[in-house]
Amino acid sequence: MAEAAPGGSPPTGEGPSGHGGITLRELDARPITDLKGVGKARAKALATVEVETILDLLGFYPRRYLDRSREATVAQLEPGVEGMVLVRIDRVTSRRTRKGRSLVEVRASDSTGRLRLTFFNQPWRERQLVEGMQAVVFGKADDYQGTLQMVGPVVDLVGDRTGRIVAVYPQSDSAGLHSWDVDAHLGEALRRIMAVRGLTDPVPVEVRERFRFVDRSDAYRAIHRPESMAEMAEARRRLVFDELLRIQIALVRRKVELERTSVGIAHDTGPMEVGDERIDLLAEFHDRLGFDLTGAQLRTIDEIANDLARPGPMHRLLQGDVGSGKTVVAVTALLTAVRGGHQGAFMAPTEVLAEQHHLGVAELLDGMTVPDPATLLGQRPLKVDLLTNRTTVAERRRIATELVAGGVDVLIGTHALIQEGVEFGSLGVVVIDEQHRFGVEQRAALREKNRDGTAPDVLVMTATPIPRTAAMTVYGDLDVSVLDEMPPGRTPIDTVWIPEDGKGTAPSAGAGVWSVVRDEVAAGRQAYVVCPLIDESDALEVRSAEEVFSDLSTGALADLRVGLLHGRVGRAEKEETMRLFRLGALDVLVATTVIEVGVDVPNATVMVVLDAARFGIAQLHQLRGRVGRGAHASRCLLVGEAPTPDAEERLKALVRTTDGFELAEVDLDLRGEGTIMGERQKGRNDLRLASLRRDREWVEAARQVALELVGDGSGLDVHPELADEVDLFLGADESAFLLKS
Ligand code: ADP
Ligand code: MG
Repeated sequence: MAEAAPGGSPPTGEGPSGHGGITLRELDARPITDLKGVGKARAKALATVEVETILDLLGFYPRRYLDRSREATVAQLEPGVEGMVLVRIDRVTSRRTRKGRSLVEVRASDSTGRLRLTFFNQPWRERQLVEGMQAVVFGKADDYQGTLQMVGPVVDLVGDRTGRIVAVYPQSDSAGLHSWDVDAHLGEALRRIMAVRGLTDPVPVEVRERFRFVDRSDAYRAIHRPESMAEMAEARRRLVFDELLRIQIALVRRKVELERTSVGIAHDTGPMEVGDERIDLLAEFHDRLGFDLTGAQLRTIDEIANDLARPGPMHRLLQGDVGSGKTVVAVTALLTAVRGGHQGAFMAPTEVLAEQHHLGVAELLDGMTVPDPATLLGQRPLKVDLLTNRTTVAERRRIATELVAGGVDVLIGTHALIQEGVEFGSLGVVVIDEQHRFGVEQRAALREKNRDGTAPDVLVMTATPIPRTAAMTVYGDLDVSVLDEMPPGRTPIDTVWIPEDGKGTAPSAGAGVWSVVRDEVAAGRQAYVVCPLIDESDALEVRSAEEVFSDLSTGALADLRVGLLHGRVGRAEKEETMRLFRLGALDVLVATTVIEVGVDVPNATVMVVLDAARFGIAQLHQLRGRVGRGAHASRCLLVGEAPTPDAEERLKALVRTTDGFELAEVDLDLRGEGTIMGERQKGRNDLRLASLRRDREWVEAARQVALELVGDGSGLDVHPELADEVDLFLGADESAFLLKS
């Protein structure tokens, strides 16, 4: 392709690393069919793995490497020890086991001995492994009736490639695309790139030197054709940095842009004079709480106050584990808006949660007054309202009118708050709870609420702690505050995993579980029972909750007062049930995950989660956070078997720790970053090589460099090639994904 590079620019003679080399954008403009040996059929096969341009091919990284210097012979394999051998496939047979599982058995050998390969539930192996083929197999050998055997080994078909380190690429059996095909095309592409101009390296020399990075041309060559594992590691380090740097530049640029282009409100945070009275809303609010704020709350409130006092709009993320006391911080921010005659909005992801927040906040603010020159006394009661999809038309109309007139001070609700037609007199502060369910569009809509063009300050709260580096990547356009201290007097929650089957509701099964519940109730406490999560359908989930409820209330807990809460319970009934539970008129609340967030009943001390393995770590942690909120010792019982090793890891992690950040790390380890970065696993914009887990230090380094390069708002004017590359990988529409989840 280099011969026909766009613009036909001749080689500059500057050498592979200087300017004038080939840019990634040029490579993106060259279809894969430019390469010798890539015809229509091969192009089609490559398209199945999303390789359509030369750039795609360069970014199609090896899945792993075979270090052939570590290869053994069959005779050298030892039972019980992992080993790697190159064998010839001699015979392949397949059948079904008595239990109906597919079983493929392969006889293989090298010049020193025979090896049996056994694959369960991988019927495609029969097509993959053909007699006469050479394959490198890696696994733990065992002795099966006198023959060496590997069960479910990793198999790499290497063709006739030689070399000490062999790159193994993701293959597509269905498309007939083999690792060695990819390898051959890459060889050709690299050869042609290097033969002409090499790749340009847009990362400033100063940065490359600081981190002792290899040149980009070398990096691409060595990631695909390493001469040693050490060389590969250097190449990877360099390419990982490039990936992360592009993302951080996009995020930092966006953040700077937002700050530059929007006009915010500079809030007053001190006391105010009303007639001859001095009113200090914030101090008054804190005085009424009945507890002292934690150090972390004070610090966070301060950070927020600083943002609010500044003329630019705030975009801050408040991370705080379940029960760390985010509500008080949020309400303080809302009151700061109210204090200056503006309004506050508090958005929650679900109606239950919005209703809960409404009750809680209304109670916290009950009896407080705000200055109002239009009234006789110069003040009026502070007004908190609730707006959800279930608000009646008449009520909605009243709220709308009062909102515009400024008669509503704090409006709490769901997405309904940002629908067209909801207009505020002057929206000063918006708090968004559990941000992971709000998209970037919704945040954008909120910013356009004020008629005078001012943007409200935005505080996003999340109780799902995510590791710092992940936060930097996912919420990179936000400033971050962390509530890393729990209010005093909490007793740690004791978590146990009870691995019996999920039918824990039968009187015999789960007897231990229900006696724990009964004991606590006898001691005056209350309990939650969370029903199995059913992803497939709401209706099924409701049915299962109803079954658990009827089983329990007629069986194991027949003499207790049991309530039921799920997504389809009507609003009035839901409120009534919650009210009764809060009052202590119900002993046990059977519920679906509608109680996952926000529900706050300090007297509840037992959380039973049925079929717990179905839930993710974050979800279980949230659920567990419903107890341990008062002075009494609390327990969390995770019931049910773990169907997979991962599920077992999850449950054990919950038993081991209540630290949300530690759990977040475990979650990241188990699930990988795909989940954090959103659903899009494959797009060019995604992390292909970098791992938020393995490459933490590089996330920080990339952030730092991005701040140096674009943090002053100068954009990338002095680094046009880098700017162009960021656009190439994270064009305007594509970078939006980074900001939602
Ligand atoms: P979360 O961060 O999970 O939203 P909440 O704001 O709901 O936590 O607070 C959990 C509980 O802790 C509430 O009952 C709240 O009143 C109480 N709380 C908050 N801050 C403090 C504090 N500084 N001292 C004692 N209790 C507090
Ligand atoms: Mg909360």
